[in-house]
Amino acid sequence: MAVRPIRMYGDPVLREMCQPVTEITPEIETLVVDLIDTMRDAQGIGLAAPQIGVPVRIFVIDLSATDAGEEPLAFINPEILRADGEQNGDEGCLSFPDYFDKIVRCDRVTAEATGIDGHGFEVEGMGIMARALLHETDHLNGVLFIDRMSKFRLRLAQGRLRKLKRSTEEDLGENG
Ligand code: ZN
Repeated sequence: MAVRPIRMYGDPVLREMCQPVTEITPEIETLVVDLIDTMRDAQGIGLAAPQIGVPVRIFVIDLSATDAGEEPLAFINPEILRADGEQNGDEGCLSFPDYFDKIVRCDRVTAEATGIDGHGFEVEGMGIMARALLHETDHLNGVLFIDRMSKFRLRLAQGRLRKLKRSTEEDLGENG
C-alpha cells in the first residue's frame, strides 16, 4: 500500500494507449490498492493507472462522492456500453492541479468492467458519476479532458497549460 506520485500534464505516459490486463496478478492487486490510496490522498474522485505511470487499462472511482458509504471501485478493462444525454459542467483532473474548466459530456453512462475479484460487473452512472466514467476511460486511451474542451476555452487556457507542460518536462529532464 502506497501513495505514488501523480504524473502531471506533459508526462508522455498520459498520452499512451494503455494495455489490457490479461490476468489479475499480485502486482495488479497492489496497483489497484495504490491507485485507491493515491486518489484518496489527493482527494480526487477518480484516478487512472497511467496517472501513476503504469499504462494498463485500470481506473478507480470513489463512489462515496455520489452514494454515501460505498467503497472505491476498481474498473479493470472497462468498456463504455451506452452514453446519452448531455451535461455541461466544471471538470478537473489530478494531472492538472487546481485547474477546472467547462466540458460537455454525456449525462447517463453505462460501463462494464472486471472487478478486483475477477468478476464482471456493470454500473450505470448519472451526473458526476457519468462524467467520471467517461473521463477515466479517456485516460486509458491517452485522451485528456483538455482534448474535450471547446476550441474557445482551450485558447483561453493555452498559456496556463503550456506553463504546466513545460514545468513537467523540466522535472522529467532533471530526474533522468
Ligand atoms: Zn484525469
